[in-house]
Amino acid sequence: MAAIQRWTVGAATITAIVEDEIAHIPPELFFPAATAADVLAHPWVVPDYADAAGTVTLRVQALVVDVGGRRVLVDPCVGNGKRRALPFWHDQQYPWLERFGAAGYEPATIDQVVHTHLHADHVGWDTTWRDGRWVPTFERARHLYTAAELEFARRAVNEHEDVYADSIAPIVDAGLADVVATDADLGDGLRLAPTPGHTPGHVSLWIESDGEVALISGDFVHHPVQCARPDWAETADADIEVARATRRAMFAEAARREVLFVGTHCAARPAGRVVADGAVWRFDAVDGEVVG
Ligand SMILES: [Zn+2]
Ligand SMILES: [Zn+2]
Repeated sequence: MAAIQRWTVGAATITAIVEDEIAHIPPELFFPAATAADVLAHPWVVPDYADAAGTVTLRVQALVVDVGGRRVLVDPCVGNGKRRALPFWHDQQYPWLERFGAAGYEPATIDQVVHTHLHADHVGWDTTWRDGRWVPTFERARHLYTAAELEFARRAVNEHEDVYADSIAPIVDAGLADVVATDADLGDGLRLAPTPGHTPGHVSLWIESDGEVALISGDFVHHPVQCARPDWAETADADIEVARATRRAMFAEAARREVLFVGTHCAARPAGRVVADGAVWRFDAVDGEVVG
């Protein structure tokens, strides 16, 4: 597995830094309406995103956007040592910070952290455990949140995990949090777009530079097969109908504008073109430079 991959978009670069990639997942675990046979009806998903038996591969990765002298981190994964309800995310020791370093980055060089939403696998590295408490990892960075997501994350606290307390409150308490609109213009060609459904205040990130355009999806899509099956809800989609409508609208726009589409949970070759295919779409991967 390539743990660090980089794509160029005009004068910007997008660098994927993988935390974990899991293969051979029965598709119905994440997409209740799906079967392995349904997945294999779209043979272009093999071998990058599914195996020959129709089980699927999913990845957890963060993306770093470098543009205009600014460095933006998107969706910093699960993190280490977090108490989590899902056993495969609980109390992990991933070498993600080492990979982040191998990609040429240091935490103090991150200017902004963008969160597509505040599920546990998108905020983890925002804090690290030091001297008996969770402290900000990216000490200089402004951390961007939408108001609806903050409220949704506060309500999601339960006895098995408290993502708000261990990964969000320490950022707010340190004065590093900014609440922004779901369509905020961040400058340097970076712009948020509301993509609700998976969560209420979910956003995606548009990147425009020198006439080229990319889109970082977040979780409005989890797997490239959803290009062909935008009706397939993911188990965590909060509003299934809204999520379906978001997928269709965003795939249509991505295809029309021929953007570099970066799928946050997409494995192996996570960036590519969304191409119209009858009434739905397919995904044509675009290889990045393998950095590590
Ligand atoms: Zn999510
Ligand atoms: Zn996720």
